[in-house]
Amino acid sequence: MDAGGVGGVHVKYLHHCRRQLWLYARGIRPEHLSAKVRLGEAVHDTAYSRFQSVDLGSAKLDHLDGDLWVHEVKSSRNATRSDEAQAIHYCHRLIEIGVPAKGAVLHYRPTRRTVRLPFDEQRRDAAVADIADVLQVITAPSAPGRLDRPRCKGCSYTDYCWTD
Ligand code: SF4
Repeated sequence: MDAGGVGGVHVKYLHHCRRQLWLYARGIRPEHLSAKVRLGEAVHDTAYSRFQSVDLGSAKLDHLDGDLWVHEVKSSRNATRSDEAQAIHYCHRLIEIGVPAKGAVLHYRPTRRTVRLPFDEQRRDAAVADIADVLQVITAPSAPGRLDRPRCKGCSYTDYCWTD
């Protein structure tokens, strides 16, 4: 895979767990077994019905409004670095294809909280660095080590990583 193939999920996993990214990049994808992911899909089916997803190929974002802000709906309660990096990655990808995205808005459905992330030079640099980091992780010959067990809570790879 080259830099153009790096998508939002790769970036999200980069910031959550590099082992998760490495496994995902090798086609090991137990997400369909995860209730958490199913909830996320249900959220996208039933809430924020005015949103229309935008498919950029390797990246699929929940909505792009008329002012060119990316919107992402999350089923979790609190903002994470992974969420922010993924949304900023989408902005970066849009700008690459000539759409001058202004930034991203994260919508946390359980709390109705929103987080607004203007796209600036610092975030652009971070998005470029994330793509390079993804490529470095996925081309490593062996899987990165596991996170500490408490940080694996809710990860769909738990059985894979922790069944000895
Ligand atoms: S179970 Fe833990 S170590 Fe394994 S991929 Fe998930 S977060 Fe990473």
